[in-house]
Amino acid sequence: MRLSLVVPCYNEVEVISRFHQALSRELAGTGRPYEIVYVDDGSADGTLDALVGLAATDESVRYLSFSRNFGKEAAMLAGLRYATGDAVVIMDADLQHPPELIGRMLEEYGRGFDQVIARRNRTGDPATRTLFSRAYYWLINKWADVELMDGVGDFRLLSRRAVDGLLELNEYNRFSKGLFAWIGFESILFEYDNVQPPADRKSRWTFRRLLEYGLDGLLSFNNKPLRAAIYVGLLLTAVAAGYAVWVLVAAILHGVDMPGYVTLIAAITGLGGLQMVMLGLIGEYIGRIYYETKKRPHYLLKQTNMDPAERLERSN
Ligand code: UDP
Ligand code: MG
Repeated sequence: MRLSLVVPCYNEVEVISRFHQALSRELAGTGRPYEIVYVDDGSADGTLDALVGLAATDESVRYLSFSRNFGKEAAMLAGLRYATGDAVVIMDADLQHPPELIGRMLEEYGRGFDQVIARRNRTGDPATRTLFSRAYYWLINKWADVELMDGVGDFRLLSRRAVDGLLELNEYNRFSKGLFAWIGFESILFEYDNVQPPADRKSRWTFRRLLEYGLDGLLSFNNKPLRAAIYVGLLLTAVAAGYAVWVLVAAILHGVDMPGYVTLIAAITGLGGLQMVMLGLIGEYIGRIYYETKKRPHYLLKQTNMDPAERLERSN
């Protein structure tokens, strides 16, 4: 059994050699043949040079380098496409995914699981964020067609057939968390202690990014928000009809006067806002359709030490 590692790297020059050492030590300990596929996601800090250096001294190192930064999703996709192992482990280069867990993953894989998921707990995370994510996952699991779980990220082992399944999902807008859940197969999950990023390194998860990611999660996997829009519209129509009847009855009983300025303004602004939200929602879906129909590639390669033909041969 041959193992592939897929490691997306974006501006990781400071940790990459430390990461590689820790990982190699762990992999040597498993006693299985392996390859490490590093994907340089258009780094601007010499990560690519570091990878070329690693490849020169370690023949298990493969690297791919993008023409610019295409994002982690694209980097993972490229890595999965080029990985040739019978099982693939995806992990971050920044040492937040402990290599020590690979042994445990292999054990579970040996028991026949297709997805072995390492789930981080939230020790050390700010309380508000923990609260927000709990609420979010509760909401999304009520709504979405696939189940998503708090703390579950990309750190996992996938069997060959799970990887092949993922590669069949060719959508442009990749929301991996959902894709992993979508493919199914026997999965098992274990927890590990959250590793905080070094203090001098800012997490790329700003509030705004989290919000956008959250919206992606809601919109990528179903059209229930559109359906919710229909229900809200129906509800409002019913409220408006009830109110009209009430005004009419009041006019018959007490005669006509001219109150209701506040009601009017509230109704106009409230409905206006709601309509904008609904339009935005429809726009989101149309935007997604727009990107999908262009069928652009997810990334462009600049440099690699792999032979694409060889990859195709091996994966056929
Ligand atoms: N990464 C990437 N492309 C990007 C951003 C990040 O390939 O545009 C890689 C990064 O090098 C790291 C992993 O994805 O190996 C996770 O990134 P990061 O640590 O910034 O995210 P977080 O740990 O905060 O989720
Ligand atoms: Mg990180």
